[in-house]
Amino acid sequence: MPSLPHLPDILAETSLHAGSEPLSRQPEDVLRTVFGYPAFRGLQRDVIDTVMAGRDAVVLFPTGAGKSLCYQIPALCRPGLGIVISPLIALMKDQVGALEAAGVRAAALNSALDPEAREAVHGAIRDGSLELLYVTPERLGNEGFRRVLDTVPLALFAIDEAHCVSQWGHDFRPEYLSLSLLAERYPGVPRLALTATADPHTRTDLRERLRLDQAEVFQTSFDRPNIRYEIVERSNQRQQLLAFLARHKNESGIVYCLSRAKVEETAEWLCSKGIRALPYHAGLDAGVRAANQDAFLLHEGLCLVATVAFGMGIDKPDVRFVAHLDLPASVEAYYQETGRAGRDGAPSEAFMAYGMADVVQRRRMIAEGDAPEEIKRAEQAKLNALLGICETAGCRRQGLLAHFGETYPKPCGNCDTCLSPVDTFDGTEAAQKLMSAIYRTGQRFGAGHVIDVLTGKDTDKVTRFGHTALSVYGIGQDMPAKAWQSVARQLVAAGRLDVDHRNFGALTLTEASRAVLRGEERVELRRDRGAKSLKKASGARLASIADDLQAEDRYLFERLRRLRTQIARDNGIPPYVVFPDATLAGIALARPGRPEDLLAVSGVGQSKLDKYGDAFLDLVAAFEAGV
Ligand code: ADP
Ligand code: ZN
Repeated sequence: MPSLPHLPDILAETSLHAGSEPLSRQPEDVLRTVFGYPAFRGLQRDVIDTVMAGRDAVVLFPTGAGKSLCYQIPALCRPGLGIVISPLIALMKDQVGALEAAGVRAAALNSALDPEAREAVHGAIRDGSLELLYVTPERLGNEGFRRVLDTVPLALFAIDEAHCVSQWGHDFRPEYLSLSLLAERYPGVPRLALTATADPHTRTDLRERLRLDQAEVFQTSFDRPNIRYEIVERSNQRQQLLAFLARHKNESGIVYCLSRAKVEETAEWLCSKGIRALPYHAGLDAGVRAANQDAFLLHEGLCLVATVAFGMGIDKPDVRFVAHLDLPASVEAYYQETGRAGRDGAPSEAFMAYGMADVVQRRRMIAEGDAPEEIKRAEQAKLNALLGICETAGCRRQGLLAHFGETYPKPCGNCDTCLSPVDTFDGTEAAQKLMSAIYRTGQRFGAGHVIDVLTGKDTDKVTRFGHTALSVYGIGQDMPAKAWQSVARQLVAAGRLDVDHRNFGALTLTEASRAVLRGEERVELRRDRGAKSLKKASGARLASIADDLQAEDRYLFERLRRLRTQIARDNGIPPYVVFPDATLAGIALARPGRPEDLLAVSGVGQSKLDKYGDAFLDLVAAFEAGV
């Protein structure tokens, strides 16, 4: 324990810290020595200054921007205990583990603790030996806990995943509502609310509900430049998935499916193809679910096949891909789910395969749900906004950000439509043909049958209904069936056609169809790329951190990774808690010979140097000696 100089002006401050801490630490020092980073990123410094001055802050940064340091650092620099409110126990466990590895005295208090462990944490709070405490919102309402809190000075309250307080978003947690009381109960203790939600309505909502209308708001672009978006029409879904996964050998990622059955089938099938995949959905036995989640966090190169029950609060930084095998619920959901890729800032991919069947299914789910009419209409509009992005001929990123009210200045160059642009064509005549065929067949059939009629197929169904006799029979032979499917999807996405979910997805005409049929409106359509995949598009290969390394450095990098895996396994922690990839790449480049050289690598702090420094230095020395 460091001895404290007896200066009266600093005594007041240090006594609050129970004497176990070096004197008033500076944010830069903590950033360097504890977390091992050379500089703050983006607006981190501004947020920290605000909280250090005792003021409230609302932090709206996208995933991976580094929100955690915005409260962790002031909590370590201000006198007193920092309280972090977090909705999920799994999330707390991860964060506490990572902080402990960095030498921070952190703990979590939640219902998973037995009374004895809880008492130990209470004791640590009372004697001032804790710096950061993670709690669930329920815990703050607990009388016993509040009595313990009243005995110590508090550095700050950080409300993580603050969008959970809003009913508007999709992660609403009623317990969060009680957090509005913090302002009165702990006046003078600065509060921060943090979220990666990009939805403007939720953001205003959370400021009101958490009584943060006086707080300073820090907001950055919600763009995730390291994520590449790709949305394809579904043809052979499994083969499409396999081709996509081939670009991500030995990397971690998530495959989202809509139903539990599909999750299990897909995971099983991937395993049969030699891909290490595990299922995750709310119907699995709790033990299996937890084991699969832990495996995903602890091991490298696992593919987790999951329903949307998986993901919130998963902080794994090196998720390299997120694939959707079904249409997500909305643009917001899509952005949040794909946002779980690439927290570490390294190149990552978001992939979606979808088709008309998804549209029919989603419409039915909305219609058959028990929400009131106006909510159903809103959900329908959300679905249409997503379809618009799926069917755009323009840049996906521009479309996504525009949905959140942001203007991205130019096509991004890192999405499928930018990397391999799609042509557009005057689709007015094609639209008229399709609409006529729908009308002539009585607006009772799905896209498959209507297209059979258009392309002049003589299936049983076509013959049975006498559709060979229609004037529209065979008038669409100038385009293949696949192209017609694309036309149908685009017209539905644009509201120029509707699907009747009560009638097995029958295509029907809308008000907007009439204008097209009467020739009053021109229709611009995209010409789909067909089977040509991104992989073949020039320059489309995804870069990785190791790409920047020369062959020899790269070889060292791989050896460092193996050492990291070994250390992680021995300590029962995830590899990225030892060091992230970027830090290993930094070591491979710098080839540190002495502890102070290793400390200079970004991501190496004092505590990790003490714990793992020798092992990594020995490996570098052996490598340099040619061993
Ligand atoms: P968020 O909570 O905003 O999604 P995190 O706080 O989990 O993001 O940070 C994402 C990653 O960025 C983490 O691996 C973190 O250690 C790293 N990071 C944060 N701030 C910095 C910084 N100033 N310099 C380098 N890396 C940083
Ligand atoms: Zn783009």
